[in-house]
This record gives sequence, structure tokens and C-alpha cells, in this order.
Amino acid sequence: MAKTKKTIKTIRVDADKCNGCRACEIICSAYHAEPKYSSVNPARSRIQVMSHRMKNIWLPVFAGENANAECMGRNVYVIDGKEYPECDFCRASCPSRDTFKEPDSGLPLKCDMCESDPPLDVPKCVEKCLNNVLIYEEREEEVEEEIRPEDIQVGLEALIDKYGVQKVLDTVSRMTASKRG
Ligand code: SF4
Ligand code: SF4
Repeated sequence: MAKTKKTIKTIRVDADKCNGCRACEIICSAYHAEPKYSSVNPARSRIQVMSHRMKNIWLPVFAGENANAECMGRNVYVIDGKEYPECDFCRASCPSRDTFKEPDSGLPLKCDMCESDPPLDVPKCVEKCLNNVLIYEEREEEVEEEIRPEDIQVGLEALIDKYGVQKVLDTVSRMTASKRG
């Protein structure tokens, strides 16, 4: 199968530099308001800063996939002597907490990397984080080319317009006969 290039977008999080200013939450909620910038509500943000002041923990986490069921086991992480409570690193909106849920409807929120047309140079939260906690990176990866049925249809329609249905059918049957050997 043919290979094609795909752009992988990531945001690296240098959590040690985060001071909990929450500018990322503010801009994300404003950018995704309808219409854009019409309101600010950090509860609607697709990035949440998990904060535990007494432990000096500030951990920006991006909303990921929705989970329909609560997980059966939980993890506690200890990094550099700081103990992070259960679920802090989890990106899912799930039944056990209100994080990453649209506050009015309860619908799950998911980071979309600020996809827009025309595209932004960098996602909004990256642009507004003045402490360089959020670092935007892009890389190219080679992947199998996906064959979409609608593309085949468009191609066939163009051939039929040019040569007529019968010629296209004759060619296809000749090709399939030669493939069968
Ligand atoms: S804007 Fe940057 S420093 Fe401020 S809370 Fe978000 S990640 Fe942390
Ligand atoms: S990349 Fe965009 S959608 Fe994702 S958290 Fe940042 S501002 Fe929100």
C-alpha cells in the first residue's frame, strides 16, 4: 500500500515551570466560546491545571478521550518526592469527576489543538503561557495511505464522464480477468 506523510502535533509540558497562573485555561475557554472570545469560563477549558498548593504541585493536563465508565483501579504517582493524587494525570472525562465536562450540558470536552481554518501558528494555550511550560512540536510520520471510498467514486465518475460507462466496465473486466490469471 502507498505511504503518505502525516503531521503529528504535540504539546510538551514542562510542568516544573508552571506557576498556576491559569492563563492557558482562560484563553482556551475564550477561544472555544460561541462566538469566539464572547465569554471566559475556565471550567470550559480543554486544559486544566491540577493544583495542590501545600505540595507545590501545578500540573497542566489536556482533555483527551471520554471514558463512559469509571476505571476499576487508580494510580498514585510520586515524582521528585511529590505525591500526585489519584486521577491527576488522567486526560479522560469520566463519571467519577467533573473535570473536562462542559459545565451546563455535562458533555465531554476534548483538546482539538485549536484546529482552525486558516491554521494558527501555535495553539492558543501555548501562545499565552509566558513561562514556556507548553512547547508546541510538529513532526512528520510515514503512514499507510488510507483509501477512502468517496475518492474512488470521484475518480470513477471522472473516467465515466470522459470515456463513457461501457468503456470503463470493459476495462475493469479486462483487468480483473488478467489478475485472476
Ligand atoms: S499558562 Fe503556563 S504557567 Fe500559567 S497555568 Fe498554564 S501552563 Fe502553567
Ligand atoms: S491546544 Fe487549544 S484546545 Fe487544546 S487545550 Fe490548548 S487552547 Fe485548548
